[in-house]
Amino acid sequence: MPIPADARADLHTHSTYSDGTCTVDELLAEARAARLDVIALTDHDTTAGWDDARAAASAHGVTVIPGIEVTAEHGRASIHILALLPDPGPETPLAHELQRARASRRDRARAMVEAIACDHPITWDQVQEQVAGEETTLGRPHIADALVAAGVVPDRGAAFASILAPGSPYYVRHYAPAPEVAVAAIRQAGGIPIAAHPASSGRGENVPEEILEAMIGAGLLAIEVDHREHGEAERTRLRQIARSHGLWTTGGSDYHGAGKPNRLGENLTSPEMLEAMLPASGGASWGSEPMRP
Ligand code: AMP
Ligand code: ZN
Ligand code: FE
Ligand code: FE
Repeated sequence: MPIPADARADLHTHSTYSDGTCTVDELLAEARAARLDVIALTDHDTTAGWDDARAAASAHGVTVIPGIEVTAEHGRASIHILALLPDPGPETPLAHELQRARASRRDRARAMVEAIACDHPITWDQVQEQVAGEETTLGRPHIADALVAAGVVPDRGAAFASILAPGSPYYVRHYAPAPEVAVAAIRQAGGIPIAAHPASSGRGENVPEEILEAMIGAGLLAIEVDHREHGEAERTRLRQIARSHGLWTTGGSDYHGAGKPNRLGENLTSPEMLEAMLPASGGASWGSEPMRP
């Protein structure tokens, strides 16, 4: 795929199919307004938004790379892996992992809400009101939004800093595969696995170097270096790791609409990098092709 030399590509975005606050259609309109040429739609643990993206890409003049942000877990740390252009189909290990994670997320959300409801005025129905549809991957942000609507906390950030924090008595874990299992499953499905914000500190998501090494051993192809939660020193360190292992480096906004301060296009992936990287995808369905305007 020839990428124009001046293309602006944001490879990390969320919609209402997970915990973003924009529909796919709104996301693409905003991407156009932010002068983006390419975005990757990377909702948590789901491909449910891909159909909408395919339908809307041409109307908005934005190329969409179908992706997923796969949740993995090491110990108690949540480790995120972007998968670009995978073709999970119905029967691959990746499809099974995603299905299992989504089901577990639903049980976990119910358990958390039940516990929170003992102390705060919030019900499961109120949480459901914050969820766009049946196919949406449930996450703590939806509980946060219900807490905001109920006037318990002022915003998502405040909810995450208190009631929803991993150290809180209301916190419940959900199933997630080990990082190297997730990376291998993504590769097997023809996807390009990218370590997502591996140096984001402050929310238990700083990936220890030996885990990054294990992911590289399992077939990791790139590291998301340019991300709002990485400082300059961390970016330099990650670039060195990438160089020494022959990995590509990417950037993305991790846009969640109104759910986070991150703005579309605030971090980008270079067109050269994108052009080099995309042929590494071995997916076979329409979903494996970028959706071009
Ligand atoms: P979960 O997947 O349910 O464990 O929730 C994690 C998600 O919540 C991540 O995808 C983040 O984007 C989001 N998140 C984490 N911390 C915050 C925060 N302080 N404010 C808003 N969203 C957050
Ligand atoms: Zn999120
Ligand atoms: Fe993430
Ligand atoms: Fe994300």
